[in-house]
Amino acid sequence: MADSCLFCKIIQGKIPAQKVYEDEHVLAFHDIHPQAPTHVLVIPKTHWATLDDVTPDDKNLLGHLLERTAHVARMLALGNAGYRTIINTKSHGGQEVFHIHIHILGGRPLGRMVV
Ligand code: AMP
Ligand code: ZN
Repeated sequence: MADSCLFCKIIQGKIPAQKVYEDEHVLAFHDIHPQAPTHVLVIPKTHWATLDDVTPDDKNLLGHLLERTAHVARMLALGNAGYRTIINTKSHGGQEVFHIHIHILGGRPLGRMVV
């Protein structure tokens, strides 16, 4: 856990969030500024600042994070129509919160990816 990290504070319950899924290793909650009808963030309970910080030792937890992301999308009834997942990384990736998170966006056609 990182003291100054917003998402670590959400994990610790110090800042409220609208949780949709939680287990020992990951937490999913609604984005505070949704960019689609459904916009959920899935985060590991381990503090990694960015995707650039993960190492081969993190493979198992990363695999779990991605598998649970698919599970959460199915829970939110996005599985059939589909959805978009995004990980923004560092400055050029437009990352604002430096605790790795997977965006799940869905609930309407999102069109082709634009950058
Ligand atoms: P990123 O640009 O990938 O770092 O995205 C950070 C996301 O976190 C943005 O979509 C924000 O709307 C979202 N966000 C920031 N603060 C909160 C919060 N307290 N609860 C839920 N989502 C948040
Ligand atoms: Zn953190």
